[in-house]
Amino acid sequence: MTLKWDGHTHTKFCYHGNKAETPEYLERAIALGFERYTISEHPPLPEGWIDNPALMAELAMPESELPDYFAYIEEMKARYTGRIEVALGLEMDYLYENEAYSDRILAPWLDKLEDVVVSVHYLPGRGGMRCIDFTPDDFKDAFLETYGSMANIVDTYFDHVEMAIAWASKLPMRKRIGHPNLIRKFQQALPPIDDAQVEARLLALVPKLAEAGVGVDVNVAGFRVATCGECYAPDALIRACREAGVPLVYGSDTHRPEHVGADWDWFEAHVLRAEA
Ligand SMILES: [Zn+2]
Ligand SMILES: [Zn+2]
Repeated sequence: MTLKWDGHTHTKFCYHGNKAETPEYLERAIALGFERYTISEHPPLPEGWIDNPALMAELAMPESELPDYFAYIEEMKARYTGRIEVALGLEMDYLYENEAYSDRILAPWLDKLEDVVVSVHYLPGRGGMRCIDFTPDDFKDAFLETYGSMANIVDTYFDHVEMAIAWASKLPMRKRIGHPNLIRKFQQALPPIDDAQVEARLLALVPKLAEAGVGVDVNVAGFRVATCGECYAPDALIRACREAGVPLVYGSDTHRPEHVGADWDWFEAHVLRAEA
């Protein structure tokens, strides 16, 4: 029997999320029958990582809050012992050419961390590093002219996902690549993406994941985005991962209590039932 596990969730330490306290999330997870719940907050970013201070303030907690975050999650772990397993995690950004920053902030916590989701949220774009998942207009401004085509953007995105897998391979705890198809978040508001290109790049990740010991965050948040409407891990990737023995972990990516357990039915049908 597979553990009922939500492997990607957020907290009040996320400033584009919700102020709700973690017990609100955990009570809902328990009511839905979850047995393990990974808390994977966005960690701090290097100063000036994005040349937009207002946006920076929303993207991640300041570095000074990281110890408070860990203390809060440890308290939750203790308080919920016997009711649900709370796993201490982070959703690390893959910081292109700045991996040393991530290595430094992780170093004191390596023994305590149980789960790391490694996500590509940023690519080099117009004026420096830019978000790939902020808004469709911001995406266009950041990348369309700079890269000249969606095909070039998609290729660069997957090049970065491959670098993220290589970086993640060195981490000692359970680790997964976050929402591998995030580049499709705004697909219905952007020039068309070539499905065959995306599928080829996704399938090429599978042997790298297997070798690196990195799993996949089967992240259902894309269903909640009007311009996306799909899971960030499509069926073809799920099948190939299963054949290669790459772990597939459900991720609600909840940023508010009511999203705990979102689209679990889809995960059950597409991942668990297919496994049986
Ligand atoms: Zn977030
Ligand atoms: Zn993410």
